[in-house]
Amino acid sequence: MTPNITDSAPAEDATNESLPNGFHQIEEHNHEQIRKYGFGTRAIHAGQQPDPHTGAVIPPISLSTTFQQSSIGMHKGFEYSRSGNPTRQSFEEAVAALEKGKYGLAFSSGSAVTATLVSSLGFGGHIVSVNDVYGGTYRYFTKVAVNQGIETTFVDLIDPNNIKSAFRTNTKIVWVETPTNPTLRLVDIRAIARLTHLHGAILVVDNTFMSPYFQNPLELGADIVVHSVTKYINGHSDVVMGVAVTNDPEINEKLRFHQNSMGAVPSAFDSWLANRGLKTLHVRMRQHQENAMAVARFLEKSYKVESVIYPGLESHPQHNLAKKQAKGFGGMVSFRIKGGFDSANKFLQSLKLFTLAESLGGVESLAEHPARMTHASISEEVRIALGVTDNLVRLSVGIEDIEDLLLDIQQALDVAVPSLPNLI
Ligand SMILES: *Cc1c(COP(=O)(O)O)cnc(C)c1O
Repeated sequence: MTPNITDSAPAEDATNESLPNGFHQIEEHNHEQIRKYGFGTRAIHAGQQPDPHTGAVIPPISLSTTFQQSSIGMHKGFEYSRSGNPTRQSFEEAVAALEKGKYGLAFSSGSAVTATLVSSLGFGGHIVSVNDVYGGTYRYFTKVAVNQGIETTFVDLIDPNNIKSAFRTNTKIVWVETPTNPTLRLVDIRAIARLTHLHGAILVVDNTFMSPYFQNPLELGADIVVHSVTKYINGHSDVVMGVAVTNDPEINEKLRFHQNSMGAVPSAFDSWLANRGLKTLHVRMRQHQENAMAVARFLEKSYKVESVIYPGLESHPQHNLAKKQAKGFGGMVSFRIKGGFDSANKFLQSLKLFTLAESLGGVESLAEHPARMTHASISEEVRIALGVTDNLVRLSVGIEDIEDLLLDIQQALDVAVPSLPNLI
């Protein structure tokens, strides 16, 4: 259902008509087949048929910008690489299969997904967004979407009913992230989807933190699921890319049209790398989670730590919701260190294996200081209200050996918070 997206326009490049019938049917059949398999099998096989010309098991990177036509308008499904590219399409099919959606669209970044989605709303209208949304999304809504006459209301959605008073007659989309960043608060996707649809709007869920392995928002009622592929899906901190997945053909057509018009497409090389990364998503996510759980429990036991935030801990206020709507808790752990900013600063400087850097979701462990790094552009007042305090540290727990990670955290805590009796 797409009641509120305006400005529907036919896709310029309706490619499938010109595919030879038999070919198209085989593809459709493959889709059906693939979706019956488990996650790991889908990650490795969806969109990954061997190259029909050479038999290459890994299809080559398709760098060509243009594609031969046998007669005017007759082609094999591709015309010009901005509107469609075989390598990109393989990746899109794979992510769609993992999110249990029909259509996948790959973008040049997660931010390009946001920009294209907002652009597809046309002029005017209203967005309701969770209040601690990703910083770049907040910036886009408040500084760029406004130029399109679009206003955004930010709401604390821990209680889904809070959304009711935020709706306006012209609310077109609701934008949710769960867990949020960096305080890992959860939003009940099913409840928000119901309220959003009652209002006749569509629900977008940014699923970057959970990855399709742990959470499938489309199954919980979302209309569009988006990811910064830069994080877990690619998983190796060497590609900036985004993706959107939907089951709605109208939304798919509209996003494709706008994406093609705006040129917000990823390169074939990045699509290929991201596809390679995605094939091990299930294996990586299991290890991220196992390590994150061990790190969270370790921190919880330390008297040098004030509190730990991880949805997998029984102490997380929404632990039950996490168990209900997701298949796991992910690899992100935040904690408040004793001693304020100075301790946080010393801790981050003393880490040896964890790298002090922004971003997340790669195989290597990263640590950062949200208040002064990822969330520095947010006013202090808002930051404090969101719980982004000066002693908050965010960890993206990688898949290194857990013993080494725990030793690294221990030695950095020892430097940052000396064992003075008055601190115990
Ligand atoms: C990184 C991120 C984005 C933006 O993605 P880019 O690929 O950096 O443009 C959006 N949402 C979340 C939750 C992110 O972590």
